[in-house]
Amino acid sequence: MTMEGLGPVRTTGRNLDWMDYALCAQTNPDGFTPEQGGSTKSERETCARCEVPGNCLEYAFERGFDTGFYGGKSAKERKAIQKKGQEAVDIAVAALRRRAA
Ligand code: SF4
Repeated sequence: MTMEGLGPVRTTGRNLDWMDYALCAQTNPDGFTPEQGGSTKSERETCARCEVPGNCLEYAFERGFDTGFYGGKSAKERKAIQKKGQEAVDIAVAALRRRAA
C-alpha cells in the first residue's frame, strides 16, 4: 500500500484512522507494490508485523484493488479469496483482525 494511494480516499467520510498505524507507510513510504513476478518476502514480513492487517485487507476488497499488497496478501491471493465468495472474504479479514488483536 502506498500513502500516495491513500490520500484521495480520506475524503470519503469513512473512518480510515487505522491508516495511521500502517507499518508499510512508516517503513516504505515510496510504495508497497512489488514488481510483478518479484519476491514479496519483504512485504510479507512487514505485513506480519503490522497492527492493522484486517482493516487493510478489508479496504483492498472494498476498493477492488487488483494490484499491490494489502493485509499480507498479493492481488492474486485476494482474487482467489474473492472467487470463493463474501463469506471467504469476511473470514480472511476476521482472521487478520484476530491475529493483530
Ligand atoms: S497490512 Fe501490510 S499493506 Fe496493510 S497497512 Fe499493514 S503493512 Fe501496510
